[in-house]
Amino acid sequence: MSDLIYDLHCHSTASDGALPPAELVNRAKLQGVGVLALTDHDTVAGLAEARQAAQECGIRLVSGIELSAGFDSHCLHIVGLNIDPANARLLEGIARQQVTREERAQKIAQKLVKKGIPDAYPDLRAAAGNGEITRLHFADFLVKHGYVETQQDAFDRYLSKGKPGYVPTAWTALAECVDWIRQAGGVAVLAHPLRYKLSTKWLNKALVQFAAAGGQGIEVVTGRASIDDIRLSYGLALKHGLYASQGSDFHAPGNQYVELGRLAALPAGAEPVWNLF
Ligand code: AMP
Ligand code: MN
Ligand code: MN
Ligand code: MN
Repeated sequence: MSDLIYDLHCHSTASDGALPPAELVNRAKLQGVGVLALTDHDTVAGLAEARQAAQECGIRLVSGIELSAGFDSHCLHIVGLNIDPANARLLEGIARQQVTREERAQKIAQKLVKKGIPDAYPDLRAAAGNGEITRLHFADFLVKHGYVETQQDAFDRYLSKGKPGYVPTAWTALAECVDWIRQAGGVAVLAHPLRYKLSTKWLNKALVQFAAAGGQGIEVVTGRASIDDIRLSYGLALKHGLYASQGSDFHAPGNQYVELGRLAALPAGAEPVWNLF
């Protein structure tokens, strides 16, 4: 048995995290994390800096990514763990995702302009550097300019499905995202399975498709998951023959997110996904 703390899902400034990769890694080390996967949205841009910092502070870094994947009219998040970030097929794929993200960010900005909000795109593009723009950046922009009080308000009033700033997006299909991860030597994990507002029937349909495409894991312990959530997610792991993963989905210091490494234990008997790497 190992008493290493694993945190296999978090974000840096390469996507919508608040901390640059090196700071994130150092924070994880201070929190006692032994194995950290950096899993930015649709990019591997933060991994080189994270790896350097991980070597310096003595933490094991797992190269990761969180892909936005299309399933029916839904967007599911697929975490890729232990990927080769230099794999050509993966890089081609994420280049496409990045074009989708960029066009979507411009469209979201234009929709918000129609609601009387100044064009956020130039600011967000400049602030993101070579990183990806997500809806969380728009949420922060709306808070900063006083249009809403909180990030949650921004999603509830502008950014969620059906709201004025929502842009339906044709993400790469689930099976293809899984394939990119497999091609890059990685393990594909369905992130936060209970956060999609899918009915049980559709969630199971998604998992059947995910497993058939070569998906191997599911997040059983994630962020603020309750005991009941963990039990439900573990049930899905058993039903679909998937390994169990755990990750904080940390984005920023503060009360809004679970701290790096502060996770409940996997259920007794669960087969940890890190047995695969
Ligand atoms: P995107 O991938 O561009 O659609 O942005 C999704 C990101 O926005 C997620 O990874 C979360 O970081 C954040 N997010 C999504 N929904 C919410 C919400 N209701 N409240 C706060 N943050 C959210
Ligand atoms: Mn995010
Ligand atoms: Mn996610
Ligand atoms: Mn995430």
